[in-house]
Amino acid sequence: MAEHDYVVVGAGSAGCVLANRLSADPSVRVLLLEAGGSDRNMNVRIPIGFAKQFRTDLDWAYTAEPDSNLIGRSMFLPRGRCLGGSSSMNAMIYMRGHRHDYDTWASELGAPGWSYDEVLPVFKRSEANTRLGEPYHGRDGELAVTDPVWVSKLAQRFVAAASQAAGVPVTDDFNGAEQDGAGVVQVTQRRGRRWSAADAFLHPVRERPNLEVRTGAQVRRVVVEGGRATGVQMLDGAVERARREVVVCAGAYNSPQLLMLSGIGPADHLRDTGIEPLVDHPHVGAHLQDHPMATLTFQCPEALTLFDATHPRYLAEYLLRRGRGKLTSNVGEAGCFVRIAPDAPAPDFYVYFGPAYYFDNGFRTYPGHAFTIAPSLVRPRSEGAVRLRSADPRDPPAIHLNFLSTREEMDSMVAAVRLAREIAGTAPLSHSAGTNIDPGPGVASDEQLEAWVRAEAQHVYHAACTCRMGPEDGGVLDEQLRVRGVDGLRVADASSFPRVPGGNTNAPAIMVGERAADFILGNVPAPAQPAGATP
Ligand SMILES: Cc1cc2nc3c(=O)[nH]c(=O)nc-3n(C[C@H](O)[C@H](O)[C@H](O)COP(=O)(O)OP(=O)(O)OC[C@H]3O[C@@H](n4cnc5c(N)ncnc54)[C@H](O)[C@@H]3O)c2cc1C
Repeated sequence: MAEHDYVVVGAGSAGCVLANRLSADPSVRVLLLEAGGSDRNMNVRIPIGFAKQFRTDLDWAYTAEPDSNLIGRSMFLPRGRCLGGSSSMNAMIYMRGHRHDYDTWASELGAPGWSYDEVLPVFKRSEANTRLGEPYHGRDGELAVTDPVWVSKLAQRFVAAASQAAGVPVTDDFNGAEQDGAGVVQVTQRRGRRWSAADAFLHPVRERPNLEVRTGAQVRRVVVEGGRATGVQMLDGAVERARREVVVCAGAYNSPQLLMLSGIGPADHLRDTGIEPLVDHPHVGAHLQDHPMATLTFQCPEALTLFDATHPRYLAEYLLRRGRGKLTSNVGEAGCFVRIAPDAPAPDFYVYFGPAYYFDNGFRTYPGHAFTIAPSLVRPRSEGAVRLRSADPRDPPAIHLNFLSTREEMDSMVAAVRLAREIAGTAPLSHSAGTNIDPGPGVASDEQLEAWVRAEAQHVYHAACTCRMGPEDGGVLDEQLRVRGVDGLRVADASSFPRVPGGNTNAPAIMVGERAADFILGNVPAPAQPAGATP
């Protein structure tokens, strides 16, 4: 039986940075446990290959429960299952969300200390941006953030067309002063290869003698004794002791699953599943959010897409010219933040652009050049839930998405689909846009568009909020990520967000990992005073 000071469960976006920061003190012993294996794989390393990981050993490959709002469909839910977690599988878009997201966390959602002004320095600390600097960007961190090595001509045409059709400026920084705008995204890559949280925070410190990283190590439950987390039990029954704390960083599906398997969760549900409740926590697994997305695809009469990217000459170019050419594309090359609701306090949609036919997670293919315009609702109100299917930790959790459950959300999705078509019909993109493949041109009325959204909408892989921070009567975690009712236990990952930010979720998960380290190490500035408050 080994003893460590800290046991971190899950080597994903948050877990990698946390393990790095905690083990920076050589007197502290850290154990990082990862259920998956190594990240040495071409489809991890070469950016365009991310979707080739789906349904392989690198993927938890979950399936959601049938969703009655989506004609009973069960969506495919990929999650990274190797060092780096989902940051080894994602589309590498570097996006933090809007100031409004974090200010709302702090002022309305019971997470004081998490306002934009308080989290901005933490984002900057992790970041090694190759172009942008102060006041919004860091250059000296470990997470490589860069302009893409290769951008399709179509992406540039999309930017011009989207700016015009949506009435937003062209931007070269979605993480700067203003989010509204159309532009090419920055990506977490270095020299044309993916730069995951493992590349940034874990591999460079693997030799530290006080950091033990174990792969193929799935945790079955947190051991709680006398109200305190004292360690974790592995699938084979072995126990790993934590002298100080256990930190769960297993992601938005697995962190609540692990808490519930440990007896921390809604008591009735736990009893129904045959688990003796230790702490009755109705909010564990609740409040699941993700960003619903509609993927419109268009034929392209010009050979300007990624359709031919599998040709060996592009692999040769990539390998011989050290990370150049089409294979460095993250597919989601450009986008546009826009406000569809007239009173939206921040952009309510992000419209993805990819110079490729990307439908049904890449499983459906098209035999020719095509591109995708995919509006996603970035401030959804619907909430789903993660529940246990059984007390067996090898069983996947039951994931109820409950997407688009309100009239307002559905109406705004239909309006966003219309905007996507308008963008495709605006010069200069219109010159490259042929038939609208999905939905077909005959799908035109509001009723038809709504039916199509229900039949085909997807998510953007941004699962969050299932162990959210919040007030005593609504949050699983306090504002320092501590699980209420259990000492020595924190959850730090995308499940900790009080509400899903209006942007992608890798950078925010890394920021949460950074902050978890700050809280544990006692490096915490006092929360900012609300405007107008007397000190
Ligand atoms: C296909 C895809 C594309 C995406 N594209 C983008 C994008 O372009 N930009 C962006 O910002 N975000 C993107 N995301 C989302 C983003 O990557 C995630 O939100 C983020 O990585 C989540 O970080 P996390 O730390 O919460 O969890 P994860 O990174 O998922 O880490 C959880 C880790 O815990 C491990 N684990 C789980 N259970 C156990 C257990 N019981 N015992 C031990 N280990 C366990 C997992 O194997 C995993 O390694 C994408 C995600 C996916 C899947």
